[in-house]
Amino acid sequence: MTTPQRTDVLVVGAGPAGSAAAAWAARDGRDVVLADAAVFPRDKTCGDGLTPRAIGELERLGLRDWVRAHTVNKGLRAHGFGQTLELEWPGGTLPDYGSAVARTELDDHLRTTALKSGALGVEGAKAVDARIEGGRVRGVTFQRDGETFEIECERLIVADGVRSPLGKVLGREWHKDTVYAVAGRCYVDSGMSDDPWISSHLELRGEQGEILSGYGWIFPLGDGSVNVGAGTLATTKRPAEVAIKPLMAHYVEQRRTDFQLSGEARMPTSALLPMGGAVSNIAGPNWALIGDAAACVNPLNGEGIDYGLEGGRLVVDVLDTDLSVTWPATLQEHYGESFSIARRLAGVVTVPRVLPALGPAGMRSDWLMTLALRWMGNLVTDEDADRAARVWRWAGRRSIALDHRPPFT
Ligand SMILES: Cc1cc2nc3c(=O)[nH]c(=O)nc-3n(C[C@H](O)[C@H](O)[C@H](O)COP(=O)(O)OP(=O)(O)OC[C@H]3O[C@@H](n4cnc5c(N)ncnc54)[C@H](O)[C@@H]3O)c2cc1C
Repeated sequence: MTTPQRTDVLVVGAGPAGSAAAAWAARDGRDVVLADAAVFPRDKTCGDGLTPRAIGELERLGLRDWVRAHTVNKGLRAHGFGQTLELEWPGGTLPDYGSAVARTELDDHLRTTALKSGALGVEGAKAVDARIEGGRVRGVTFQRDGETFEIECERLIVADGVRSPLGKVLGREWHKDTVYAVAGRCYVDSGMSDDPWISSHLELRGEQGEILSGYGWIFPLGDGSVNVGAGTLATTKRPAEVAIKPLMAHYVEQRRTDFQLSGEARMPTSALLPMGGAVSNIAGPNWALIGDAAACVNPLNGEGIDYGLEGGRLVVDVLDTDLSVTWPATLQEHYGESFSIARRLAGVVTVPRVLPALGPAGMRSDWLMTLALRWMGNLVTDEDADRAARVWRWAGRRSIALDHRPPFT
């Protein structure tokens, strides 16, 4: 197929955020081009976990049957400080189940969904520059197989992930003085691949037995294997002084017996994660950053697929407005307060001795951990009016009022 020279909406990056945006924009009747540097299917470093909030977005996209044909789980089994708690997904306004699908498959399916909705796909094309005239982006320059070409656009959605190279060209700045994550994952065969719980080890210990500010996870994939990973939190002031791949290998060995792990850890990879809206310059008059590019990642658990899918839907609602005003306002309205309190709490956990002091007390209480799952798992929706939701929102309002640089500014 020949590459189009111009389009109404150009989406750069076909991860969950970009593919969702392209699908919704095409379903809105617009001309859409969805471009990516990779050729699909492609891998992406991730835990592959789909929380109920991500499931809700996949269901909105019409993918319920597809998701349910994969493994489904009923909640989180939290381990640590001598306790194991089984915490069911709370349900309410969100689906009451989660899943885990390897990103090689999930992202390919989401991209195909966008193409079936009417978007035109361009693969193997790396965005390297933007042509800006009168403050508006008029076109994006791509490189493919030694060739350089431009796609002109009326509107641009930038969904190019953690490092956001195109976002950088447009002035995106990542603030690492706010908490971020260093995380890695691998795949291991397991006799517990059909376990109906995802597992997190909140007492993550390094090779010297020291407690680290982060957690380890084992997410069953239902195909004979599990996704095993570990993530630690860091800030410029308190950088993560741990090599993530050796830590992950150590974690796999620690869990080998209880999770029936067998054979080698395959495909170990690691990445940094901007979190909690800790980026500035996320929009211009006719362009907007979404997903990881806009640091839409939960500071308390590192999940970002749900925010990516949601952001891809929300940005299409405001495409005909001045995005430099409406997009930061939309993100602040939906995520500002919860990101502010969540990153404040995550920042506290990076302080040595805080986790060893608070962890055991938290894990002794089912009630506290059920609340924590809801707050930490992005499972409070705008519609929820119960006490736990009201307390979370109150804390968020208090927190954002104290921020010297609120999320997305
Ligand atoms: C170790 C780890 C574990 C995680 N576990 C989970 C989890 O279990 N659940 C969860 O919800 N989230 C998890 N996350 C976060 C999640 O992976 C991201 O939040 C999510 O992938 C964000 O989606 P996105 O569409 O914004 O970006 P991406 O999925 O990164 O997609 C970006 C796309 O942009 C393309 N691209 C990049 N540069 C260019 C360019 N110059 N030109 C063209 N295309 C370009 C890339 O090829 C890619 O396809 C984890 C992250 C890490 C690092």
